[in-house]
Amino acid sequence: MDQNNPTPPKGPPDQKKPKSIWTTVLITVGILLLITTLYNFISNSRYTETTYSDFLSQKESGNLAEVEFQSDRIIYLTRDQAQLPASHRKACFTGLPRGDVMDMAAQLQDAGVKVTQLIEEDNSGIIMLLYYAGMFGLIFLLMRSISKRMSGDGMMGSVGGNKAKVYMEKKTGVTFKDVAGQDEAKESLQEIIDFLHNPQRYTDIGAKLPKGALLVGAPGTGKTLLAKAVAGEANVPFFSISGSDFVEMFVGVGASRVRSLFQQAAKVAPCIVFIDEIDAVGRSRDSRYGSHSEQEQTLNQLLGEIDGFDSSKGIVCLAATNRPEILDKALLRPGRFDRRIIVDRPNLQGRLDTLKVHTRKIKLAQDVDLKKLAQATAGAVGADLANLVNEAALRAVRQGRKAVIQEDLLVSFETVIAGTEKKHTVLSETEKRLVAYHEVGHALVAALEKRKDPVTKITIVPHTSGALGYTMYTPEEEKFLSTKDELLVELRTMLGGRAAEQVVFGVQTTGAANDLQRATDLAKKMVTIYGMSEKLGMMAPASVQHQYLEGNAYLDCSQETSALVDQEIQRILADSYEKARKTLADNRALLDEISEYLLVKETITGEELMAFVTPKNTEETEN
Ligand code: ADP
Ligand code: ZN
Repeated sequence: MDQNNPTPPKGPPDQKKPKSIWTTVLITVGILLLITTLYNFISNSRYTETTYSDFLSQKESGNLAEVEFQSDRIIYLTRDQAQLPASHRKACFTGLPRGDVMDMAAQLQDAGVKVTQLIEEDNSGIIMLLYYAGMFGLIFLLMRSISKRMSGDGMMGSVGGNKAKVYMEKKTGVTFKDVAGQDEAKESLQEIIDFLHNPQRYTDIGAKLPKGALLVGAPGTGKTLLAKAVAGEANVPFFSISGSDFVEMFVGVGASRVRSLFQQAAKVAPCIVFIDEIDAVGRSRDSRYGSHSEQEQTLNQLLGEIDGFDSSKGIVCLAATNRPEILDKALLRPGRFDRRIIVDRPNLQGRLDTLKVHTRKIKLAQDVDLKKLAQATAGAVGADLANLVNEAALRAVRQGRKAVIQEDLLVSFETVIAGTEKKHTVLSETEKRLVAYHEVGHALVAALEKRKDPVTKITIVPHTSGALGYTMYTPEEEKFLSTKDELLVELRTMLGGRAAEQVVFGVQTTGAANDLQRATDLAKKMVTIYGMSEKLGMMAPASVQHQYLEGNAYLDCSQETSALVDQEIQRILADSYEKARKTLADNRALLDEISEYLLVKETITGEELMAFVTPKNTEETEN
């Protein structure tokens, strides 16, 4: 997601001028040839061709009425034909013999034949030449103006075609100050900036300069922003293109776009070339992920360009991806994108900083507590937070306020995270009861189990995201480690929804699908990665492909082990479900009470929930 789309201040230098001139010339010549052939064809069809001896015999017998000498033929009209009305006349033509044409013309004139045109050989050549040159010039100009109009308003350079947009920004105006958090990434990029500032220092020592770095991270974490900031800090121009722009139907187009991108960059070096979504071109050439020859050509061209440019000139190529595992190994070899810079989802401090950056220009009311908001937004990326702040500002304007208040921020958080509240979705009364009990099931298990991240809100107001209701938890502090017990509590909480349905109504609904999915994922991780199952012990049969991207784990073990894994997952889930069910059954009165309250209020806070739970709890412990 890109909030502040760059408005390209100026198109890049028109690289393809020489090429397009030649194309235009070729097309012009083609058109001229076509016109000439057509002209000859038409003009020939107006006359019948005869032999020269025919012409001579007509001349001998005094049958000629008119004769026209052209540069390459004689056109003549017999007396019979001359008597017909002009539209019915049919003239004849024959080749022009070598020898003295002037003599023949004189003879004919003496014989009373009308000679319409005497041709002076030399002149006609020049006239023809001029004629063709004129035509050529005209068509050429026409073609130029057409092709110019087609290539747009000149704001964007077109690379090897009209479609790919290369944005060139002379000055990005973005610096590291605009990028909150991401300190490690910034540190890694610092060297590149240093190098762009002062290439000499590196070349003097004989150090090989970095050619490229790969920014790896989930969408919206600020990869583009970082690349721009590098250009801004180094004060060099910024070229950006998306990998998907290289992918074309026609073989060769992508490759030519790559070539011309680097040509443009070489002209203004030192500069940054940023390729977003490089996985679109750079995916592995082995057939596992499917590739085709166009993509392969483009990739080869890209590799060639990266190897080709002399890094002492100061072109640094940054690329972004969120799927580094599918990239072709060749791209990652030393001398290419050999540096990997991880752009992580922000932590609490990072989120707070991001919120601060984005609220710099926003009027905030006194009650705004960004820290609380940062706490509530665990898992959100920079783009989400930017979006959230903007939504809040829009909401403040809609409600006629002069400044953004905390409530605006909290409501927009829900809009961004859970989709806008969908007040008009009408649930039947039974459905509503089911949803209410389901949500309270989650919340009550969480509360009774003293979950680490307490419930902050329960609602049965449907959201556009499809959730009919949800329970929100907010961690009190950021957690990096979880114990097995905490994970088990989480499992029981997730399964609490389904358990409540079962305990109260004796039914199972589709509403629990997402809960079951997440619970199964968690149980799977406990067994295969965290070594938390009894039967497998410390064995971790799954390999995680890319840890920094909540990567997919795949099982790498014997069939027996894999069967055991399934059993263990099932057992953990069944145990947790049973415990959740028991907790709810034991506290049935509480479950009913809170659910009825939720049905009336539709949304209740964590405090309201705890008000129900706490007194009862103390009573129990007193007993
Ligand atoms: P990516 O390229 O990783 O998908 P972008 O760089 O396009 O993400 O980020 C989109 C927007 O999110 C940025 O324009 C910016 O407004 C906001 N953003 C993302 N990360 C940060 C950050 N660390 N600090 C400030 N703003 C950020
Ligand atoms: Zn649920």
